[in-house]
Amino acid sequence: MINLKCSGVVINIHSVIPFSRVNGSGARLVIFFQGCNQSCPDCFNPETHSFKEMNLLTAGEIFAGYLVDGIEGITVSGGEPFEQPSGLFEILKTAKKGYGLSTVVYTGFTYKYLAGKNDCKDLFEYIDVLIDGRYDRSKQEESLLARGSSNQNFYFLNDRYTIEDFLIPGKVEYTFSKDGSIARTGFGEISRTAGAEGGGPALN
Ligand code: SF4
Repeated sequence: MINLKCSGVVINIHSVIPFSRVNGSGARLVIFFQGCNQSCPDCFNPETHSFKEMNLLTAGEIFAGYLVDGIEGITVSGGEPFEQPSGLFEILKTAKKGYGLSTVVYTGFTYKYLAGKNDCKDLFEYIDVLIDGRYDRSKQEESLLARGSSNQNFYFLNDRYTIEDFLIPGKVEYTFSKDGSIARTGFGEISRTAGAEGGGPALN
């Protein structure tokens, strides 16, 4: 069981994109976890697979450092967010209770698998939409639905959103930072541009 009072949990983060319109409904702060054991063939984002320490941040540090005006909610992707359940919990709780933001989580695990784990029941209380399942390139999503492949399922865990909210304006998005770095994210071909510090990864 996750300690509901825990705080200051350090999370191994791959990268953060402060403002994205292609990772769920509306403008979103996107947080990419570091570490994934799923090994989906053709994963666009192999640099997030390693469990080596990348950016060790608390939930408080993430929101203090990256939350900008006009954000509707957060999207947590990876890597595999559920590999760090305590950290995921802290981020979701902070988003909901601290900032009134909506929450979307992409996972390579199935909802059925996660629902059978005690830890996840606490997590689900703070998730508006869960998109589950491993990426399958043979079932690449051709529409503008915000998922990598059509085998992945949307679970609306409350009435905040419907499937129409997950029709995104485009498949790929570029983020230009003040330091000159460029990050690319979305549900098409994903890669990091040389020199990019922010994230560009994306598909669960
Ligand atoms: S697609 Fe997602 S779940 Fe699959 S290996 Fe890549 S990061 Fe992991």
